[in-house]
Amino acid sequence: MSETNPKLRAELAGIPAYKPGKPAAAGGPVAYKLSSNENPYPPLPGVMEQAIAAAGAFNRYPDMACTGLMNELADRFGVPVTHLATGTGSVGVAQQLLQATSGPGDEVIYAWRSFEAYPIITQISGATSVRVPLTGDEVHDLDAMADAITDRTRLIFVCNPNNPTGTVVRRAELERFLDRVPSDVLVVLDEAYREFIRDAEVPDGVEIYRDRPNVAVLRTFSKAYGLAGLRVGFAIAHEPVAAALRQTAVPFGVSQLAQDAAVASLRMEDELLGRVGSLVAERTRVVDALREQGWTVPETQANFVWLRLGEKTMDFAAACEAAGVVVRPFAGEGMRATIGETEANDIFLQAAQAFRKEL
Ligand SMILES: *Cc1c(COP(=O)(O)O)cnc(C)c1O
Repeated sequence: MSETNPKLRAELAGIPAYKPGKPAAAGGPVAYKLSSNENPYPPLPGVMEQAIAAAGAFNRYPDMACTGLMNELADRFGVPVTHLATGTGSVGVAQQLLQATSGPGDEVIYAWRSFEAYPIITQISGATSVRVPLTGDEVHDLDAMADAITDRTRLIFVCNPNNPTGTVVRRAELERFLDRVPSDVLVVLDEAYREFIRDAEVPDGVEIYRDRPNVAVLRTFSKAYGLAGLRVGFAIAHEPVAAALRQTAVPFGVSQLAQDAAVASLRMEDELLGRVGSLVAERTRVVDALREQGWTVPETQANFVWLRLGEKTMDFAAACEAAGVVVRPFAGEGMRATIGETEANDIFLQAAQAFRKEL
């Protein structure tokens, strides 16, 4: 008998590990998690009720077609059900998009730094990542991204607003970019933070997709709607892209709890979006205070702020943690802090101020 291991795909070697935001430290006097862009509000009572009711039947498989949720989304966005596909979070749907479009020899373009799942799921697909650096203002360099397109390009991610910088691309520049992309290359507008946008010049991807068969919009219930732990996201795209996403979905991937909680969330949208409004007000307060302290803060339209700290990044993150808030550092680059509860934001601001004075 031979002693060799089962053969694994070569692409798996060296895939960067997804780093989840660190949990808040247990046992300290205060500990807030500002490291994963989660919604700090607990589930709404009405949403909770639906999830609990669904839990009573988890000996059964969920509705594989997510019929109730698909119908609700079709109404909400004014799109045909055939233009919708769901998945286990929008990361799940993004992985379906790659499975549907890209493999060895193909290229996937995205800005860098951007969402850390992009390099991981691209490498799993076997395709090659083409990373285009953000501009000096931490914004997608759409001209450079269009210049990077080759015969091998299959998919381009545009993360709007961008995780982790919070910066946006606006209507005119996005349209100009899309006009340059060949019609057989899929552009994915990742709008995980759409509900936090207050800049009227940022286009709604759902309006952009309507006239463009090569555009897909990714949305999630994890952030504004507060269902991160239930894993449900969706895409809006024309046929045949949406159909390909349904083909590549893990069967029964979205639980009935997630489906029913998502439907309840759409029906309680006013209340949920009221909470988003409070977080946006907190965002303004945090950004203003940081600038007052002397920091350079890029314009953010998401539920987080970005500070480019370079070599000081890990020290800053340690200082925050010692003060009682956990942020998300990217060593040597900068840190992202989620807008959380008022008390958490206050602790973060105090830690930033103290650190600033030491600089
Ligand atoms: C959080 C996030 C997502 C959503 O992830 P889920 O899988 O839906 O929880 C997608 N894209 C970006 C850029 C994100 O930051």
